[in-house]
Amino acid sequence: MTPLDRRIRAAVDVDAVVGLARDLVQIRSENPPGQETEVVEHLRGVFADLGLGRGDVVEATPGRQNLIVGTGDGAASGKPVLLVNGHLDTVPVRPQAWRHDPFGGQVHDGRLYGRGSADMKGGIAAAITALQVCRSIGVDLPCEVVFHLVADEELGGEHGTGALVERGLIAADACLDPEPTGLKLCLAERGLLFARITTRGVPAHGSEPSKGRSAIITAAAISQVLHDNEFPQQPHPLLGTTTCNVGMIRGGSGPNVVPEECELRIDRRVLPGDTEDGVVRGIVDRISSLGLTAGTDYEIDVERFCEPSAIDAADPFVDQVATSFTTMTGREPGTTGLPFTTDARFMRNQLGIPSVVFGPGKLELAHVVDEYVEIESLMTAVAVYAHLFATFTGTKRARDDADNQASHSGVAGQTV
Ligand SMILES: [Zn+2]
Repeated sequence: MTPLDRRIRAAVDVDAVVGLARDLVQIRSENPPGQETEVVEHLRGVFADLGLGRGDVVEATPGRQNLIVGTGDGAASGKPVLLVNGHLDTVPVRPQAWRHDPFGGQVHDGRLYGRGSADMKGGIAAAITALQVCRSIGVDLPCEVVFHLVADEELGGEHGTGALVERGLIAADACLDPEPTGLKLCLAERGLLFARITTRGVPAHGSEPSKGRSAIITAAAISQVLHDNEFPQQPHPLLGTTTCNVGMIRGGSGPNVVPEECELRIDRRVLPGDTEDGVVRGIVDRISSLGLTAGTDYEIDVERFCEPSAIDAADPFVDQVATSFTTMTGREPGTTGLPFTTDARFMRNQLGIPSVVFGPGKLELAHVVDEYVEIESLMTAVAVYAHLFATFTGTKRARDDADNQASHSGVAGQTV
């Protein structure tokens, strides 16, 4: 451990990180409906107190605010840019089910309770506190740290990171996403495809079902070949296999009519490398084993596709985060995959920015009743993030990109 490492460790202030996480939990930002404005306003004050100014608010959709705050001039400074992308929205709560006040930020038995404590106000508080640590011990950062604290991740990111991508506002050499991963390095995540399958039948009087063809029976057969069945695909080393859930069914017009129409809604989770067309083809192939033809016996409509994403385990940024973890904890970090998507996919897939999802709080505590984050894991995260901020000098690939970019546009560090 170098003197700098020791100074970082010593400067981690439990009251600072818990206090900030608690403040953020106490400001409701559930999505739906999507109400990030108040938490953005609070954070602008926090950043101003840190000497970073109040940042820029990007309101791509009225009432849906995203906050951009950096330590300097961003890519224009010539320093590598380390992006911290975190979402400010949470899933809603049903307070009756909670033992702890979901918006109280109560501390109990080494845990901070509340909606968003794990997913992901705790991680955001840890990253901001890490910057505070670096400043308090006078580290001259070798990089620009830029925070994108966004809306709408929980419902797909259209008003949040997606809007920032669309406006060309994201340029970085690497991205840290402090979602709850139990302090493991998350290198891959499954994507999803939601689809509506509508089956067609031939109506008949309910007293003579053999004279018709039931759309419900067809839908039931389709459910059986799709639900919780494996699709022919190599398992991913971090993500395992794909899945398919038939989550909704609706059909028929009355007990005395052979149903003419039935609708299923499915959630198919997919792996890196899967495309929307390929996944739909796989579903159609599976249904064709029943002798059913798309377009005639049923229709399939894609409602949403969130692409899967991954970072190469050999990417230098993975090693940099791992080094910061090991330096601060004395342990090797574990690696993991997420069964659901995060905003990291925008950076990985659309911008080619190497992105690691790594944060305090257990993955399985996201979205649950009595959500909490362990205070110990918040403190570890602060130390690891501070070390990363204090040592990030770019990645070789990013530097090559920057050289290419600079010769075209004069902007260093921008990744296309
Ligand atoms: Zn999250």
